[in-house]
Amino acid sequence: MSIQNRFQPLLKQREQEHLYRRRPLVFSPQQPIMQINGIECINFSSNDYLGLANHPNIKQALLNSLNTEDDISYGSGAAHLVTGHHLHHHLLEDELADWLGVERTLLFSTGYMANLAVQQTLMQAGDTILADKLNHASLIDGAQLSAATVKRYPHLDMEALERRLKQAQAQNSQVMIVTDGVFSMDGDIAPLKTLQQLAQNYQAWLFVDDAHGIGTLGKQGKGCFEHFGLEPDENTIIVGTLGKAFGTSGAFVAGSETLIETLIQFARPYIYTTAMPQLNALAIREALKLVKNAEASREALQQNIKHFREGALKIGLNLWPSETAIQPIMLGKSETAVAWSEALKQAGFWVGAIRPPTVPKNQARLRVTLSASHTVEQIDQLLQALHNIQTRIGG
Ligand SMILES: *Cc1c(COP(=O)(O)O)cnc(C)c1O
Repeated sequence: MSIQNRFQPLLKQREQEHLYRRRPLVFSPQQPIMQINGIECINFSSNDYLGLANHPNIKQALLNSLNTEDDISYGSGAAHLVTGHHLHHHLLEDELADWLGVERTLLFSTGYMANLAVQQTLMQAGDTILADKLNHASLIDGAQLSAATVKRYPHLDMEALERRLKQAQAQNSQVMIVTDGVFSMDGDIAPLKTLQQLAQNYQAWLFVDDAHGIGTLGKQGKGCFEHFGLEPDENTIIVGTLGKAFGTSGAFVAGSETLIETLIQFARPYIYTTAMPQLNALAIREALKLVKNAEASREALQQNIKHFREGALKIGLNLWPSETAIQPIMLGKSETAVAWSEALKQAGFWVGAIRPPTVPKNQARLRVTLSASHTVEQIDQLLQALHNIQTRIGG
């Protein structure tokens, strides 16, 4: 069978189910007002929570480095274990570890790869992975790459989790609890205090993907542990991503010396790939300085979240109980979500329609993401447009 004959019907079906995805073409820097597909619009769908993606300090750091005697090649040339591990990679790992108060961190080119690495490397046959049902796709894929048995528990259901912990204990099986810190499509925060307590009670390891908490939550933006006043213990594994609040790209795993050395020795998604360009590590080092000192931006972000929620609830939108920058408006059917998203585009607002398989069936939604760089006026304009669409199209 030809590729054409196999896949044309699947593409057609996807289109008929209102699930077809297209890549919007962006003609401007990442910022609140953008040119997307030739339309000028206010962007409410990126993860640039602190407005750092187009920050002048980061661009200046790159320019300075290129214009001075710093002798930096663009390409890293090889994997970290070969000849790709350059000075700025190394310094960045130390600075991230100091910032988070952990023994070590390890850089990856993307969060997706970091998440493929952790479970595959640490979890062996006979072990058990207990994963929240709404975990990010990269965590689900990472679990599948490991030899462990994978069981999912209902979203945030700590009693269900404890029952599974008891079962695993009875079978003498080493457990890793795997969860998003801030859930990427829902915006709610995992109950870390309970999770840490459960992990400690059952000698389980706790793996938290803090892609959306790093930079936005806690003092100095240290993420969801700091947000709850907790400290990661020796059996905690944290993944942070650098393409969201950091405004750059890449990711890191944070934890103990033994954890990091184990990943360096055995993690295939670490070993068999080229190191990110050193210039990117240099840009991330500059972003880290900004993130640490971004208390004013974090406060502005909280104010924007509060302002959006109050306005949206006043006009009767079906919000999710989220206190973070991710604010889903639940609409149910995929075609409704697409219709709202299209109508918003016509009105000059870019808000993504999130549909299955990214979210469960009949839970299609608009995913509004807020940034410290949005103005109150821009949020009010979005609320007005949502109100108009609600009256015209309905939910
Ligand atoms: C975005 C995201 C990732 C992937 O990170 P990338 O650096 O974009 O590959 C992983 N986990 C969660 C929860 C995310 O939202």
